[in-house]
Amino acid sequence: MSTVMLTSKEQKQSTVITVHNNHPIGGDITTVIAGPCAVEDRDELISLAKQLKAMGVHILRGGAYKPRTSPYEFQGMREEGLLILQEAGRAAGLPVITEVTDIRDIELVLKYADILQVGSRNMQNFELLKEVGKINRPVLLKRGFAATIEEWLLAAEYILAAGNWQVMLCERGIRTFEKYTRNTFDISAIPAIKYLSHLPVIGDPSHATGRPELVAPVAKAAVAAGADGIMVEVHRQPEDALCDGFQSLLPEQMQTLIVQLQKR
Ligand code: PEP
Ligand code: MN
Repeated sequence: MSTVMLTSKEQKQSTVITVHNNHPIGGDITTVIAGPCAVEDRDELISLAKQLKAMGVHILRGGAYKPRTSPYEFQGMREEGLLILQEAGRAAGLPVITEVTDIRDIELVLKYADILQVGSRNMQNFELLKEVGKINRPVLLKRGFAATIEEWLLAAEYILAAGNWQVMLCERGIRTFEKYTRNTFDISAIPAIKYLSHLPVIGDPSHATGRPELVAPVAKAAVAAGADGIMVEVHRQPEDALCDGFQSLLPEQMQTLIVQLQKR
């Protein structure tokens, strides 16, 4: 490639993204994003959001459009979910992040979300990348579960090339021969991204491990390796969750993790 990549360190030293409530991502703070995999219930989410805010979480997550492996699994509450997420974020004083899976939904999601997430399964949905490149809102781009670091950076390049430089990357594990964990957290991807790119990088130990008992140690490893933040799934009744309950932390486990991160 002859041109200097927009995502590369040759362009700039570091990018700090400012979210709606002025929270900076990519500076000195370790950003903590937490919440359920999917938005499920209004009152429950409002109450959880307040609890997360009180323990020091910076951004509330919750999927309204869920890209599920099986078409018979819960697909998300769609617009109703967006509305609830926004309401919960406002009630708790937290900005919100949610996934957009389709170009046709971008306009709607923009009405409710402070950060748009592009999921692992859509990392190379180039039309979606070009469209989120045209908006003026931060985007979290998850690594495709079978994507190399170069392919991941090129996917981010699509967004920057279309004009949106407010991009953060998220390592969420890649698929390997190992089956004990849901995916394999590529710890070296964190310093590799910091070495190659000015973009902030977030670690997602929930989807990487698929096991709650591994979430805190992997989250701490991500931060130790240079991650600008973590994104963790939290649910009060993991056994009743409509999506990814098996890997969700209880709020008190999340609180313990935050205290441990603050002690570092
Ligand atoms: C999610 O964040 O809930 C999600 C679907 O993640 P991924 O795209 O990494 O699988
Ligand atoms: Mn999930």
